[in-house]
This record gives sequence, C-alpha cells and structure tokens, in this order.
Amino acid sequence: MSNKEYKISVLSGDGIGPEVMAEAIRIIDKVSSDFNVDFIIDEQLVGGIAIDETSSPLPDQTLNSCEHSDAILFGSVGGPKWESLPPDTQPERGALLPLRKHFGLFANLRPSICFPSLTNASPIRADLVEGGFDVLCVRELTGGIYFGEPKEIQNHGDERVAIDTMVYKESEIERIACVAFEAAMGRNKRVTSIDKANVLRNGILWRETVEKVSSKYPEVELDHLYVDNAAMQLIRRPREFDVLLAPNLFGDILSDEMAMIAGSLGMLASSSLGQSLGNGLYFGMYEPSGGSAPDIAGQGIANPCAQILSASLMLRYSFGLTDAANAIDLAVRNTIDAGYRTGDIFTNEEGTHRVNTTEMGDAILSNL
Ligand code: NAD
Repeated sequence: MSNKEYKISVLSGDGIGPEVMAEAIRIIDKVSSDFNVDFIIDEQLVGGIAIDETSSPLPDQTLNSCEHSDAILFGSVGGPKWESLPPDTQPERGALLPLRKHFGLFANLRPSICFPSLTNASPIRADLVEGGFDVLCVRELTGGIYFGEPKEIQNHGDERVAIDTMVYKESEIERIACVAFEAAMGRNKRVTSIDKANVLRNGILWRETVEKVSSKYPEVELDHLYVDNAAMQLIRRPREFDVLLAPNLFGDILSDEMAMIAGSLGMLASSSLGQSLGNGLYFGMYEPSGGSAPDIAGQGIANPCAQILSASLMLRYSFGLTDAANAIDLAVRNTIDAGYRTGDIFTNEEGTHRVNTTEMGDAILSNL
C-alpha cells in the first residue's frame, strides 16, 4: 500500500525564518520516514525576499502553490530593509493579511506552553507557574470589531468622532466555538469562554451560542469569564486553564498576555485555521508567534522550537497525524528538560547548556 501524501507550501520568508525553517524541515523528513507518510515540500517566496525578487510580498506563484497545498508552513516576514515601503506593500501587511483573507483563516490557535523546566523564563511569581502550564488560546480571527462596518472617523460639527462596529453572526460564533470544543476533546476537556456579556450585546449572543455548541460536547466542561476578570485570572492561576475561547479583540490581547506569561517567544507556535475538512481537520497556516528577529538573523542562534512546534500543529490540525504531532511535542519537551537552551531561553541555570539553532535541531531530532 502506498504512503499517504501531503503537500506543504513552505514559505520561510525573512530574517531568522529560513534558519528555523531548515530545522523544521529536518523534523518533517524524519516524521515522514518514521510514520510512513510522504510530504511534498514546495518552497516559495514570501515577504521581503519576495519583494526583492518579484516586487510583490505575495507573488502569484506563491499563492498558487498555497492553493494547491494541504497546508502552509510559514516562517516570518519583515525587517528594517522594507519598513519604509508604503504600509500595504510591506511584508507583513502585504503577505500575511492577504493570505488570511484569501483562505478565510477564521480561527487562530496559539498554544501557550510553559515547560516545567522553563518556568524561570516566565515573568510571574515562581509558585504560580511551578510545574509549568499548557493553555490553548482559540481566537476568532475574521469577525468582530476589527472588521465590522461602519468603521470610520466622521466629522460632527467641530469635532471628529471615531466609529468601530462590533458585529458577530451566530454562525461565526458557532464555528469558532466548535474549533475550541474539538480541540478541548483532544486535551483536558475544559473550555473557558471569554466575553463581556454584562455590557455588550455581542457578549450575550456569544455566551448563548457557546452554550448551545457546548451541548454537543457533553464531555467538555464549560465556564465563562468576563474579559477583565480573565486578564487577572490568567496571571493568578494560569495552570487551571485548558482551552480559552475568545472573540477577535479579546483574543488578540489575552493571547499576547498568555505568550508573555509563558515567557519565551522562541518557543511559541501558532496556527490559523480555515475551511473545515471534516473529522476535526482544517486547512491551515502554521507559523511561530514571533517575527523575523532582525537583531539575531544570520547568526545561526535563533530558537527553532516555535517553528518545529508549528509543524507539529500542522500535522495535528490539518493532517490528523496525532501520533506524529505528539512525538514532536515530546521530543521538544525532552530536549528542553535535558538542558538544551538557545540564547533566548538561556539563564545559566545548573544543568543547562547554550546551543545554536542547528544543535537544538540535532538534539530534538535525536529525541524524536
Ligand atoms: P520579533 O518577534 O521578530 O523579535 C522580538 C524579540 O524576540 C527579538 O529580540 C528577537 O531576537 C526575539 N526572538 C523572536 N523570535 C525568536 C527566536 N525564534 N529565537 C530567539 N529569539 C527570538 O519582533 P519585532 O522585533 O517586533 O519584529 C521584527 C520584524 O518581524 C518586523 O519587521 C516585524 O514587522 C516582523 N514581524 C513579523 C511577524 C510575522 O511574520 N508573523 C510577526 C511579528 C513581527
């Protein structure tokens, strides 16, 4: 019987993107041989390097490759060289936003993982993060106040008035809630839904719709928090959360708060999911939470873990290769537990040693 085959558009981009992507590809190759699946890797230009070579941050050929792929593995884009270009033609605005829009990527999933052996990277009190934590932030990405109309600044007599409109359709809430509950089923079966139902009509509809979806997942425990309280509780007791479900604006803020609480940007992966493929799988784009890190680019010292964990999310959410994804996550965890540290997470703690990008990749590969 022939192996199952998946096509991946690999868009490494700028700065540390290609350096960390090289390590993720080595991991994917190993998974391919260990788990008898074939990955067809199609590397394409994106971001600043694409501007340099084709004048566009998202060339047609790249978009075409993505359209014919099962998932997109994204590195990072941008850097000082392109910062003076008009905003819409800059690498991030000109590539990331159009990709999200083109593929209707409505769900942003960001695991905020603080490994037990990396708790000293967290800026919050040691006793609150002892033993580490693993919270999955599920943020609605294409609706809410960022996109609602009208969105304008009006002239009212002699002063200006800014208007942003928060709009959510029941169907939009329903589909993001389903993503959160599906994800919770594969984790600790707890969803905390975030809203502001005490003030916003949006919050009332959000809460009612999430309740309705929850009835389809009787095994998953659901609770609700107002966003202001959530901002406090995440700092006070991060270990008690499993899946956090939030509308666009609140999710934007809380997922950054969670990233900060976890402590190390170079460890944090992210996924943006679009069309459901059935069986809890989605077309998606997978990328590290950090950017192109121009301050360390070209030195071979970037942390490849976020990119490798992004590849793991791709195997989990787009290909349904749960065993392979678990194996990668465990290999990263074991490598960190064994004391391997790139510069961004190195604190000179006893039993740890500083490694470069390739050495970290080597260690993860040997633990896989
Ligand atoms: P950044 O995330 O690139 O860097 C912030 C800090 O984190 C830097 O000190 C950097 O060295 C460090 N860092 C980030 N990832 C790391 C890793 N894997 N290993 C070790 N250290 C890491 O954010 P920034 O400096 O604000 O932005 C730099 C450029 O990246 C800008 O052009 C920005 O527009 C772009 N950017 C791109 C994306 C994306 O492609 N999705 C996201 C954010 C920023």
